[in-house]
Amino acid sequence: EVKERGKGHYRFYRPEMNANLLARIQLDHALREGLRAQQFVLHYQPRIDLRSGQLRSCEALLRWQHPERGLVLPSEFIGVAEETGFIVTLGDWVLDSAVQQAAAWLHAGTPCPVAVNVSALQFHQTDWVARVARALNAHALPAELLELELTESILIRDADEALERLLALRDLGVRLSLDDFGTGYSSLTYLKRFPLQQLKIDRCFIATMHTDPVDAAIVAAIIQMGQALQMEVVAEGVELAEQHARLLALGCDQFQGFLCSPAVPPEPFGQFLRQAR
Ligand code: C2E
Ligand code: MG
Ligand code: MG
Ligand code: MG
Repeated sequence: EVKERGKGHYRFYRPEMNANLLARIQLDHALREGLRAQQFVLHYQPRIDLRSGQLRSCEALLRWQHPERGLVLPSEFIGVAEETGFIVTLGDWVLDSAVQQAAAWLHAGTPCPVAVNVSALQFHQTDWVARVARALNAHALPAELLELELTESILIRDADEALERLLALRDLGVRLSLDDFGTGYSSLTYLKRFPLQQLKIDRCFIATMHTDPVDAAIVAAIIQMGQALQMEVVAEGVELAEQHARLLALGCDQFQGFLCSPAVPPEPFGQFLRQAR
């Protein structure tokens, strides 16, 4: 109810309100202001074919260019945006910007598929599939150049509804990817049931796969499973040549990580695309 009093009024908080809640309300307010002031930007991280070393696609990662705080990472604000529902508005902006950028690269003669992270609230909007179609139409982007990264938590919430939406998105021609695999339910039933083309192994397993035999075994098992299900397997957070070598030996398809590049602003990424051509 405090939030609903509108702009400025959150100053009159009740003393019993804890500082954490106040901070979250202020952050929510700042996020909305930030979107109006065009302070959000997308950075792009290359996704590389392990065998050939060629650029395959990229992932759009959200950053908040705050006038005082500098570049703010999603871990600082995505949680609150999800809590307040602002992620739906912000997510629409992300989708539209990423599609627009992919269309610009296509028209510049350097096409590159773009992957967008989708949060549960966005995905469960009744008109979500129509929103995706609208963004593609608005920028005349072929659907094959858009990938959507979903997490398992999205799929378990209402599996029947999720399946229906994924089938509709697949019919549009959009590629579907399961992000952070291994950290959630990692249910084989889901992998079999849902029309997903790509599996992304969570960074936490990659980080220790060269030192921890258990994590190495988990990575190997995920890659084998992905291959058996004819899914493309992507390793996230590859930082070391040793991790790269092991992933290559295990038959992993692609990687993302600081070993190649962190996420960078659109201009340097465009430069990267022109060089790669
Ligand atoms: P994610 O989708 O799993 O993205 C991968 C994260 O790992 C990114 O963090 C990326 O910058 C980071 N990363 C990539 N390579 C390396 C590496 O070699 N080492 C290390 N240490 N990190 C690496 P980022 O950009 O801070 O994003 C964090 C999470 O925030 C994302 O995880 C995603 O869940 C969420 N997120 C980012 N952008 C969006 C968005 O536009 N919408 C939504 N809903 N969520 C987003
Ligand atoms: Mg992702
Ligand atoms: Mg991930
Ligand atoms: Mg993650």
